[in-house]
Amino acid sequence: MSYTAAGTKVGFIGLGIMGAPMVRNLVAAGYDVTAFDLDPSRVEVAVKDGGKGAASIAETVREADVVITMVPASPQVEAVVLHEGGVLESIRPGSLIIDMSSITPQTSVDVAKAAADKGVQVLDAPVSGGEAGAVEGVLSIMVGGEQETFKAAEPILEALGKTIVLCGPHGSGQTVKAANQLIVAVNIQAVAEAVVFLEKSGVDLEAALDVLNGGLAGSTVLTRKKDSILAGDFRPGFKIDLHHKDMGIVTDAARNVGAAVPAGALLAQLVAALRQQGDGGLDHSALVRGVKRLSGEKLED
Ligand code: NAD
Repeated sequence: MSYTAAGTKVGFIGLGIMGAPMVRNLVAAGYDVTAFDLDPSRVEVAVKDGGKGAASIAETVREADVVITMVPASPQVEAVVLHEGGVLESIRPGSLIIDMSSITPQTSVDVAKAAADKGVQVLDAPVSGGEAGAVEGVLSIMVGGEQETFKAAEPILEALGKTIVLCGPHGSGQTVKAANQLIVAVNIQAVAEAVVFLEKSGVDLEAALDVLNGGLAGSTVLTRKKDSILAGDFRPGFKIDLHHKDMGIVTDAARNVGAAVPAGALLAQLVAALRQQGDGGLDHSALVRGVKRLSGEKLED
């Protein structure tokens, strides 16, 4: 069994910043995609991009071989997959659900168990690479589930990403994604502190960031976010609200296994504070705004 573009019908649920370009890439790879979102304007975008629009989850999944979900967090995955009117009610036995949302590892385990009772396979397959990675089809995809299911799903995942790795059993993809979010948050905060320090010191900020990115301090964060940080453009991208959710997942998961994540705990607080200051809808590079406030700057909203 291999879900190649020829003959595979995909149902896609969740057409936001990430889901929309992922649908575009699946259509470009030749998949027959039926798309649904609570927001009908997002469905219209998917139809313009070559997908078929659906008005309900049932309509999205009834004929699908593979159902992909890309919604904000655990409560939405539970609502979409497990609740009344959800995927498991209408999906055909023998089909596959690939949940690409970033959620708690435990929710992924619960979803896999509920699906197995109906003869449906599940992979947790959260991603990293941001909106740009989704648009370019070069996401890193960290997968949890069974080897045989992973092999069958590889052609679909290859239409969406570049680095695709099976990390272990159900929930493992989410655990690796939680670690990813810890590293990214600490990295952005370090860049944010450097930016404010450099600005206040009066050096040429752009030149400074360029040379830093060529050395050991270089990072994908600097490469991807430098221009928008210099322009003070914090449109999302990856929303602070979502990173707040992810810092909750990683600090909780780390506590459960007895791992100390002191920098992660600090970042969870800094992200939560930024959100309380009204920046939840901004890109996570808005951690720069948090450092500016701590450094005494009065920011315009
Ligand atoms: P988003 O808020 O832009 O999109 C989420 C979409 O899901 C929205 O269009 C919303 O209407 C839809 N939705 C919510 N509940 C639904 C339901 N019950 N039924 C149908 N549709 C529903 O979020 P996003 O940035 O696309 O992120 C999606 C997931 O991917 C999140 O788990 C996020 O943490 C993760 N992620 C995002 C990025 C990024 O850079 N944006 C990167 C990696 C991972």
